[in-house]
Amino acid sequence: MVVRLPQRAVPLRVDVAGGGPVGLSFACMLKSMLGDQAAVRVHDRRWMRRRNRIVWRGLADGNMRREQVVTLQSNVWSLLPQQVRQRLFVGGRFSEMWPLGPDSPAERGRPRNIKIRWIEDCLLDAAQDVYGVELVPQAYSSPDSWDGLHVLAIADGARSATRDSLKDHFGTPSRDLYSVDGAPLDERVLGIRVTAKVHDEYTVPLTVCQNRFLFNSLGGGFINMRLTAEEASEIVALGECGPVRCIGVLGCTMRPQGPRFVCDKHRAVLKPSVDRLSFLWPRIMDGLRFFGVDAADVAGITSFTLGMQQMSKFTAQIGPRTFGFLLGDAANALHFWPGRGLNTGLKGALSLAAELRTRWRGTPFHAADFAVHEGIMQQLQYREKSRAWITMLMPDENGAPRGIEDRIRDGLQGPFDRNALVATLYERVRTIKARLAGRMGSLPADEWFLTRINAMDVRTLKVMVESGPWITRRIGGDEIVIRMPQERPNSTQPAGLSLVS
Ligand SMILES: Cc1cc2nc3c(=O)[nH]c(=O)nc-3n(C[C@H](O)[C@H](O)[C@H](O)COP(=O)(O)OP(=O)(O)OC[C@H]3O[C@@H](n4cnc5c(N)ncnc54)[C@H](O)[C@@H]3O)c2cc1C
Repeated sequence: MVVRLPQRAVPLRVDVAGGGPVGLSFACMLKSMLGDQAAVRVHDRRWMRRRNRIVWRGLADGNMRREQVVTLQSNVWSLLPQQVRQRLFVGGRFSEMWPLGPDSPAERGRPRNIKIRWIEDCLLDAAQDVYGVELVPQAYSSPDSWDGLHVLAIADGARSATRDSLKDHFGTPSRDLYSVDGAPLDERVLGIRVTAKVHDEYTVPLTVCQNRFLFNSLGGGFINMRLTAEEASEIVALGECGPVRCIGVLGCTMRPQGPRFVCDKHRAVLKPSVDRLSFLWPRIMDGLRFFGVDAADVAGITSFTLGMQQMSKFTAQIGPRTFGFLLGDAANALHFWPGRGLNTGLKGALSLAAELRTRWRGTPFHAADFAVHEGIMQQLQYREKSRAWITMLMPDENGAPRGIEDRIRDGLQGPFDRNALVATLYERVRTIKARLAGRMGSLPADEWFLTRINAMDVRTLKVMVESGPWITRRIGGDEIVIRMPQERPNSTQPAGLSLVS
């Protein structure tokens, strides 16, 4: 609902660099709160103009739309503007797969799985049809002068060029804190896009009982597989004259053509799919089998590297009357295993929109106006990166780091005691099932899970056992909750944002 503030001569002028899910959500939230009292303009290089509309570029125009399924926590989705929620959550476009938890409390509802592509489609339509946001289908570049602009929201993703161009104001991100023995810790992950035959919820205990594979589904989705460096070295695309830059380097997806996986753009073949001696390929197939997926259900394979960096600040005065704010992955790119990147980005966007709504009086802002928002961003960084870092280090029962690569390598080596491995995994699944009871829909009988475990090759079983179950207790606890301001048009109090204890 638009809050009626006293008429002011000057609207709040806002530029947003990057119209991904966070940049567009921020624009819609701000307009839903301030209406005509804010003039919001969003730039994105993945858009184009078609007749009188702005639309996403397609593959033919050089844009590979993202197909991943993300999980939105109810502490986040319930705070999105009503018109956005109405568009997002229509039948068949979302599912409730994951259980209630601290960031999805019972009174707000369960987490919701949704395709990132659908989120982007709905937001782009809402921005132009409902909120009157000005959309600019081109890359953002800083103006010669900041005159007339009050806010620059920087939401152009993890490799933000806008943030880099303003490093004198925001500082340079550092990887020191997310390094082991002086080297930044990076993980290589395979993303296998599949259609699913098994009910989404049934796969939750299978995902949570180990750390090698993660399946996030909406009748299909991505099975993500963590790799060792040796396995990652097999992820090579072969052109006619040998290896070419493609998957893993340029973000390409390899799609099935008979038994081979081929890149649409480079016409290169994924080596493990044609290499009979591949160590990796049978391990991938085993992971699919675990979740009831056949080779014929694979729609694409991609690969990416995950690492983290620390930001020194998220808010900066970049001009005499202009403040810049880092949002989304430009602020905090997270390891996605606990699935928090977009949620964290949206929390930051909600916090900033609420703060601007409370503080805007038609006169220039002061640095102190954003102390609360900067505090929330620092809390989010601390909370979410601590959580993600633990899942990257994977401490053993004594708290000593035992990284996922070491665990996978140990699992691939004998001796192999099949019965003991099956018993360990089965016990884990039963414990997880008991813990989930009452927090999600009903799950199949124990025997169904035993059949899935028994179908695995013994090496895969040992890797799963060594990789350990999700360390939910260690990474759980209080969440950063964003509270939207009450309707206080004349108040100069900061928005009521707090860390729930
Ligand atoms: C496999 C995988 C699974 C994930 N699962 C989850 C999950 O379950 N839950 C969750 O919360 N998060 C998840 N995430 C993270 C989530 O996808 C990201 O956090 C989210 O996409 C970040 O949104 P963003 O808008 O900040 O950045 P982006 O999505 O990267 O969007 C940035 C936008 O900026 C545009 N842009 C870039 N440069 C410029 C420029 N110079 N000028 C103009 N525009 C520019 C780009 O075109 C793009 O549209 C997952 C990520 C991955 C990889």
